[in-house]
Amino acid sequence: MKAPPFAYARARSLAEALDLLDRHGDGAKLLAGGQSLIAALNMRLSAPELLIDISRLGELSGIRVRDGHVRIGALTTHAAIESSPDIAKHLPLLAQAAPHIAHAAIRNVGTFGGSIALADPAAEWPACCIALDARFTLVGKRGARQVKAREFFKGLYSTALRTAEVLTQVEIPIPGPDYRSAFVELARRRGDYAIVGLAAIGKNTRGALSDTRLAFFGVGATPVLAKNAMTAIDGRAAKSDAIAAAVKALEKDLDPGPDLYSSAATKMQLARVLTGRALAALVA
Ligand SMILES: Cc1cc2nc3c(=O)[nH]c(=O)nc-3n(C[C@H](O)[C@H](O)[C@H](O)COP(=O)(O)OP(=O)(O)OC[C@H]3O[C@@H](n4cnc5c(N)ncnc54)[C@H](O)[C@@H]3O)c2cc1C
Repeated sequence: MKAPPFAYARARSLAEALDLLDRHGDGAKLLAGGQSLIAALNMRLSAPELLIDISRLGELSGIRVRDGHVRIGALTTHAAIESSPDIAKHLPLLAQAAPHIAHAAIRNVGTFGGSIALADPAAEWPACCIALDARFTLVGKRGARQVKAREFFKGLYSTALRTAEVLTQVEIPIPGPDYRSAFVELARRRGDYAIVGLAAIGKNTRGALSDTRLAFFGVGATPVLAKNAMTAIDGRAAKSDAIAAAVKALEKDLDPGPDLYSSAATKMQLARVLTGRALAALVA
């Protein structure tokens, strides 16, 4: 199938993109890497009257380290994150997650902000942002606001972004030197969206974990922070009995539905297995 007809405008600045968004409201859509949007247009799942191409806005791209935070521009590609020495040094969770996103050709074009704005429930970046306690900058014509990742994902493909807003930047606090991270996912083939995945981080003090954050994806309409499992492991060395307690507590956190290929029971079992692997990795 082919996309329905649409008008096209290449924004030369963020201000111009915001102006166009404001004038066209729901009739306009932002085009970043186009790796999800163009497919949706071709399948006629979306029919905007205007595409506002923001892909050339250099001001929305790049990775900067300052004041104990890493700031990632919304247009930074998956590949740029994957190969960044700053990301490898300060946010290894993102470096671990990146190779799981699609294939190299898609990672070269698809963007961090596009993935977050799309909010696919099986995507890697939203769960990583929740585990890392990221904050998003959303800019509209009337100003900017900050929204925490934990409050951003509202439902299936639904976020806190308002109609005429652009996600411009993601700000992530750099975890301290004792923090460890683990990224694990199960997919049918390398590069496919996950059946179930887990982005995990925790402070390792001589083998005991604290401030553990377990963010699952592929288990519901949004990423899920497994608060009961996190409480069950905190303050304990991740030995087999502590891991078993966290896995048991998971029952109170997750209630996955089936997807096209896996039953709810299979997903729950995969989540248990991934929890054991991630916690073992955090103290390894
Ligand atoms: C074959 C294939 C496999 C894939 N596998 C995976 C995978 O395993 N994991 C995964 O996470 N993704 C996967 N993807 C999706 C890919 O990661 C996309 O790059 C990403 O989801 C969207 O980024 P984009 O820059 O291409 O956004 P676009 O497709 O350009 O836009 C997506 C949506 O976000 C909106 N948007 C984009 N940028 C902004 C912004 N800055 N502010 C506000 N709204 C914005 C657009 O209006 C649109 O609605 C796959 C894609 C393909 C084609």
